[in-house]
Amino acid sequence: MSEPPFDDLYRELILDHYRRPRNYGPLPAPTVQAEGVNPVCGDEIHLDLQVRDGTIGQIGFWGQGCSISQASASMLTDRLKGRTLEDAEEVAGKVRAMLVEGAPPDRSLGDLEALEGVAKLPVRVKCALLAWNVLLEALRQAKAAAREVQHG
Ligand code: ZN
Repeated sequence: MSEPPFDDLYRELILDHYRRPRNYGPLPAPTVQAEGVNPVCGDEIHLDLQVRDGTIGQIGFWGQGCSISQASASMLTDRLKGRTLEDAEEVAGKVRAMLVEGAPPDRSLGDLEALEGVAKLPVRVKCALLAWNVLLEALRQAKAAAREVQHG
């Protein structure tokens, strides 16, 4: 009996996103911008969001660093483009639970489950989490801006 090659599959998925990053590059007119670094590994992620009516219409990232940090950001943009801010927050929460608390991956995460497969070492978890921490900062900004409009 041999284990199914899930790890290989996940590694391929990560490498594919690393080599061909989705939604790469700054947006022409972002409404929210956030960035973050993981000094342990030297990873750097910038995130641009264009939010309209509580929905992420456009999303772009750029940065540098290890394959896990960049692939994680690419997968994030792939997953969250066109989603609402609430959806984005929910997905980020599930990814964090999986990576930080070791929660079993939620079935709704789909391809994002690959991050668990390659981020088993604590030092790698920081790489995988970076983009999601940057996203949470961007979501905080987007919500603050929405509140300002409401109360303005
Ligand atoms: Zn890294």
